[in-house]
Amino acid sequence: MIVVMHKDSSEAELQHVVDRVQEMGLETVVLRGTNRTVIAAIGDKRNVDKESLLAAPGVENVVPILAPYKIASRDAKPESTEVPIDSTTLGGQRVGVIAGPCTVEDRTMLLETAHAVKEAGAVALRGGAYKPRTNPYDFQGLGEQGLEYLAEAAEQTGLSVVTEVLGCEHVPVVAKYADVLQIGTRNAQNFQLLSAVGEQRKPVLLKRGMSAKLDEFLLAAEYILSRGNHQVILCERGIRTFEDHTRNTLSLSAVPELKSRTHLPVIADPSHGTGRRHLVNAMSRAAVAAGADGLLIEVHPDPERAVTDGAQSLNCQEFEALMKELKTVAKAIGREM
Ligand code: PEP
Ligand code: MN
Repeated sequence: MIVVMHKDSSEAELQHVVDRVQEMGLETVVLRGTNRTVIAAIGDKRNVDKESLLAAPGVENVVPILAPYKIASRDAKPESTEVPIDSTTLGGQRVGVIAGPCTVEDRTMLLETAHAVKEAGAVALRGGAYKPRTNPYDFQGLGEQGLEYLAEAAEQTGLSVVTEVLGCEHVPVVAKYADVLQIGTRNAQNFQLLSAVGEQRKPVLLKRGMSAKLDEFLLAAEYILSRGNHQVILCERGIRTFEDHTRNTLSLSAVPELKSRTHLPVIADPSHGTGRRHLVNAMSRAAVAAGADGLLIEVHPDPERAVTDGAQSLNCQEFEALMKELKTVAKAIGREM
């Protein structure tokens, strides 16, 4: 259930309604938009006396939220949420591109990539320091050393850093160096990890589980939101299907569908979504045209020699060319890059 406050209601009226809802035995989450503030009331609605809430000063309406994801739902907060990244936001007018290598391999390649993606207009640098690998004998990432290289690259370029957190024990160290904590597809239903990143206050980039339906994806986001962290970016990164001409099937219809169900920013990852370099440009353009608020793109100075995901990585020149194409698409749909 949500209690919609009048646009000119006062803080005291808001607090009074919060107290009333809590007296009825429900939890409250205050969602502040630019025009309206609403209170999401979560719990057993049989205890709710709707009429008495409607009578409280400052209350405009009391309406049910039908979706199971109470805080993520656009019913709870009709205005889009903008998550700050770099000097801009994701979820607003501007389409933001996060780019960088799959893995932080060494200092030199990371700095070279960081400067190239910055030059091309990316808003943030990506790169895994802790890598989720299917095979335990494969390279697992540089760990904290990789985070230090990312921080150095951020300092040199001014880019924000997005990097994956693999386990609850790594949340503090990743949060120390990164601007945005990424939860990968393999951890998308690790409820303890989702809660742990919900407890800290850096933005979270949540990837869709490779077999997650949209409701499951949004409920994963709800774990983070329900712990008080409201800065969540959703990322469609492809799902497992029978089709094998690509590594995953990038479900682009998920982008507008998610945008209609939730106020959270939605981005797409055409690199993992296709696994094939020659498909990345077309799917990036398509994702922007479909309304994605941003993209996550793997870029490597020498993809042929990349330790991980070389087949889906663009080189720095290809990335620069793609950014130019994307500006045209963004402009055509009335957005900026
Ligand atoms: C990544 O972006 O580095 C990654 C491992 O992606 P995913 O979790 O989508 O496979
Ligand atoms: Mn990768």
